Amino acid sequence: MKEMDTREALIDLLGQVKEQLLYSQEIGLDTPPLSPRSLQYLKEGLQFNREPLKENFYCNNLEELEHFIDNCDRCRLSKERKNIVFGEGNSHARLVFVGEAPGMDEDVTGKPFVGQAGKLLTDIIKAMGLTREEVYICNIVKCHPPHNRDPERDEIELCLPFLKSQLYFIQPEIICAIGRISAQSLVREDFKITKERGQWQSFRGIPLMPTYHPAYLLRYPQAKKVVWEDMQKIMKRLGLRDPRLRE
Ligand code: URA
Repeated sequence: MKEMDTREALIDLLGQVKEQLLYSQEIGLDTPPLSPRSLQYLKEGLQFNREPLKENFYCNNLEELEHFIDNCDRCRLSKERKNIVFGEGNSHARLVFVGEAPGMDEDVTGKPFVGQAGKLLTDIIKAMGLTREEVYICNIVKCHPPHNRDPERDEIELCLPFLKSQLYFIQPEIICAIGRISAQSLVREDFKITKERGQWQSFRGIPLMPTYHPAYLLRYPQAKKVVWEDMQKIMKRLGLRDPRLRE
């Protein structure tokens, strides 16, 4: 059976189960004990129109997903990339950093945020009292856009389902959207990073903190202060104390 056929068959099956349950209720039969979530589905209908966080890839974990997108050629970025930069870190991280797109260093190594901007991000993570291994770091698009151009809308749309699945598997408590492209892809297309950074947003119910990209901080070091304020908001929410204030 093709992917779409399977999905349609499942929707059809669930629809029939729902009808049967409603009918049983109507004629006064005891329905099987259902979870609150299933009861909600029963009352409100199957919400298949809601965009699911996990896309229909039939992957069960991050490793399978990484394997699934190996050799991806869904968009033009695949033509010139050296490596897919899937993401790395703790698969159960409480905090996920989502950048924009791999740069040249990342393209060569296949690892996210390892260049100049990456070093600064690593310092920020350390200053929060965390390590790169404790958090998860990934990007909106997984392949390096030539000449460091911004990823284009269709490239983002094609790649975003993979990020959604990553977030589904990790189930972080907080997402930190790094930079304009990340915030615009995860929050709103017209998100203004200069005006709205530092204000809590949400991505599919997960609290999201938008902040400046470390590449911006390399050009405008004076902005480090506000980024640190944003990080402190994250730390507070995670219950982390500023390591410099610890005895
Ligand atoms: N900039 C990003 O947005 N992501 C990386 O991985 C590296 C630089």
